[in-house]
Amino acid sequence: MKHIIFYSTGLSSFFATHLLIQKYGKENVIAVFADTMFEDEDNYRFLKESIEIFDVKLITLCVGKNPYDVVKKKKYFGGAGVAPCSGELKVKPSKTYVLENYQPHECKLYFGIEWSEQERIEKIRNNWFPYEVDSPLLWDNYYTRPDFLNLCETLHISPPRMYALGFSHANCGGCCLKSGKKNWIKGLKFSPEKYEIAMATEEYLNNDRKSKGKKPYTIIRNISLKNLKEKQELQQQSDNDVVFCSCFD
Ligand code: SF4
Repeated sequence: MKHIIFYSTGLSSFFATHLLIQKYGKENVIAVFADTMFEDEDNYRFLKESIEIFDVKLITLCVGKNPYDVVKKKKYFGGAGVAPCSGELKVKPSKTYVLENYQPHECKLYFGIEWSEQERIEKIRNNWFPYEVDSPLLWDNYYTRPDFLNLCETLHISPPRMYALGFSHANCGGCCLKSGKKNWIKGLKFSPEKYEIAMATEEYLNNDRKSKGKKPYTIIRNISLKNLKEKQELQQQSDNDVVFCSCFD
């Protein structure tokens, strides 16, 4: 029986992998990483170092596209919490890998689902039926972020920088299609190249919509990434304005 963990390069799946190794032994654990080609550089560092420490087999799946390539091709940003990129870049290649390599009785599948989002597990179970799905983070204790950070310290590995920079999650370099405005402002600051790609995609799709007489679509509600960037730049300029003291003039 193999225990397959979908390794996102974030702290939850890192800690989940640790629990699996403790329970089943490293020789029975396989980490599957679906590469979006859009992760933060430091996530790739964390992936390499953590897998070396865990000494488990790593399977990397990559379809050769990033999330915005998918959006551009499908001419669709998604909506209502659904993003076309996760299906194309993560779910489909992961399913193909599992179906081609294991029968349902030969493996169990694991996701780093935390207690605060445990309602997600039922949906994932339905999607993967008849394969068995679980999250080690829901086993005995309700593990939280401090537990994940303590493990990093114990194993002498730095967590992905995205957490310390204040991103809500570490995926897709802070420029996730499903992010809110605050996250995008951080993305603009810390992942400007990825922000530019997202912004160009939004403009490209809206030019297409315009030519068909459709209303423009914005990834963030009520503001385009271009306008958000301009607004942030203006804000920065006014923050940097030097005001001389003129008390004695
Ligand atoms: S993290 Fe966001 S942008 Fe990246 S694949 Fe998932 S939904 Fe798409």
